[in-house]
Amino acid sequence: MAFCEVLILIILITLCIKLCKVEKKIFKQCTEYLTASLYIKDMVLDSKTTVEKEVALTEAKKLLDVMINGGSITVKKDGQKFSFTFDLKNSCGDLKLLKTLASELKGSKYSPEVVNKFLQGLNKYIYFVLYQSFENRKEIKNLIESIRYTEFALLVLLGIVLIIGGIAFFTMVLVPLKQATKKIHEIAYTEHIEEVASHVLKVPFKDEIGKLVDEVNELIKYFAELNKFKRILEEDTSLDDIFARLANLLKTKFHLERFVIYIVSNSNNTMKVVYKEPKDLPVNQEILVVADLCRAKRTGRIISSLETKGICKMFIHPNAHHICIPLLCSGKVEGILQIIFKEDEEYKIKEFMKNMPQLNAFLEQTLPVLEAKRYAESLKQLSIKDPLTGLYNRRFVEQALENITAGIIRRNTVLGVLMCDVDYFKKVNDEYGHDVGDEILKNIAKILRENVRKSDIVSRFGGEEFLILLVDIRKGEAEKVAEKLRKKVESTTFHTKAGPLKKTISIGVSEFPVDSTGIWQVIKFADVALYKAKEMGRNRVVRFRPEMWESYEAYIKKDRSS
Ligand code: GH3
Ligand code: MG
Ligand code: MG
Repeated sequence: MAFCEVLILIILITLCIKLCKVEKKIFKQCTEYLTASLYIKDMVLDSKTTVEKEVALTEAKKLLDVMINGGSITVKKDGQKFSFTFDLKNSCGDLKLLKTLASELKGSKYSPEVVNKFLQGLNKYIYFVLYQSFENRKEIKNLIESIRYTEFALLVLLGIVLIIGGIAFFTMVLVPLKQATKKIHEIAYTEHIEEVASHVLKVPFKDEIGKLVDEVNELIKYFAELNKFKRILEEDTSLDDIFARLANLLKTKFHLERFVIYIVSNSNNTMKVVYKEPKDLPVNQEILVVADLCRAKRTGRIISSLETKGICKMFIHPNAHHICIPLLCSGKVEGILQIIFKEDEEYKIKEFMKNMPQLNAFLEQTLPVLEAKRYAESLKQLSIKDPLTGLYNRRFVEQALENITAGIIRRNTVLGVLMCDVDYFKKVNDEYGHDVGDEILKNIAKILRENVRKSDIVSRFGGEEFLILLVDIRKGEAEKVAEKLRKKVESTTFHTKAGPLKKTISIGVSEFPVDSTGIWQVIKFADVALYKAKEMGRNRVVRFRPEMWESYEAYIKKDRSS
């Protein structure tokens, strides 16, 4: 592009210089020679007497000398002054003719023949000047013509350059940018991020756009890795599995060679080592007996000897650095991750500090799962399950609600509340008996359990009523999950001892803290929406709206007064 611009500029400057030269020749010199010749002619013709004619011829001779040899001259006619300048480089007309004219005047006395011959010669010269001026004009015309052609050629050239530029812009900038934007959009809304990440964006050039696309690929890979990690964690059944998974990540992804994972028992202020790398790494026994002796446990902050040397008196390794990261769940320190480097491992420390934000992201994925698993384990001792369906019972949900909502607020996410009720369930009992009813309840419970995430809480809230809590969803997502569950039940045929049966469910949906910051209020809202779903004909999902609450209250009031 720049080359084309320079080329165009050079061509234009050349044409302008040429134009100026021709212009100078025609308008300056030709005019000067022509005016002088006409002046001489007038002067000779105007002289009447012999004396006057002699004076005129003498004047003419003087002027002719300057015209031939170049230079400036000022002459007077009728009291008026005329100045002429003749440039021999750009002389106009036939200089030879001028010289002949001048030589004819030399020494010759005035005679009518001499004057006539002189005037004839002068006319001839004037004709030459006019002819030359005409020729020069033609030259200018040609030049203008050639400018026009050049202009056209330049326009065509510019058009071609623009088209090529446009195509290049489209293929090298627009297409990769569009693909990258689409990919970012996909990862923002997909539930299958690993699938999205498996299709890597490709660009043929490693320019700025190429680098941007590479960054997008890296970002998606990172999110997919993070997502996969969380998914696998959710599938892990015990706390030991989770710690083993975390340890594996620290070794393989973050290349850590020495670290300890402690788990804290807040009820008796003790700590336990759940993972050590290497296996024979010694640990301070005192902090295991009194957990508060550990500074990271006590303060809930990262304690690093890299920032303040010797910050922790409990650290027992000489010539080594430690970074102790508290694992916080619901504001309480539930564990500690201690990472140890030898003092001379500067390169590894630098590398680790660079990756620290990534480690934090992975820990953030681990903590809610860890919290949920610890919670689930601690509740195992209590009778929390409904014996018929194997789902959590109402008491469990009531106890767990405070912790669940605290986690939602801390992580700034949303809790979906689905209140489900089987449609016309009485009929099943009446027509096929209670056993068949139980069988169907069990199967519906199974469908609900299997079609939400492992970390979600599915409970039997009443006789054939189920309350589902969708943990860490995005605003507006609960309704979609509810619809998925409703469709699943609708499309299922229950093979009972009374034969194949079909059943449907109605679901009321609300979201915490979207609809209210009081969780019981939100549950009530889901119930109101369920009531609406029944009223609208059943087998449907209804999202709670504030107007429903108003009409529900009015209905209750009317019900009480009647
Ligand atoms: P709808 O919800 O569509 O308004 O109609 P419904 O017929 O389902 O009405 P409702 O929800 O009021 O009826 C609940 C019935 O569920 C009452 C009871 O007979 C039955 N039920 C409750 N618990 C159990 C149980 O554990 N086993 C069986 N077999 N039935 C139960
Ligand atoms: Mg009911
Ligand atoms: Mg019912």
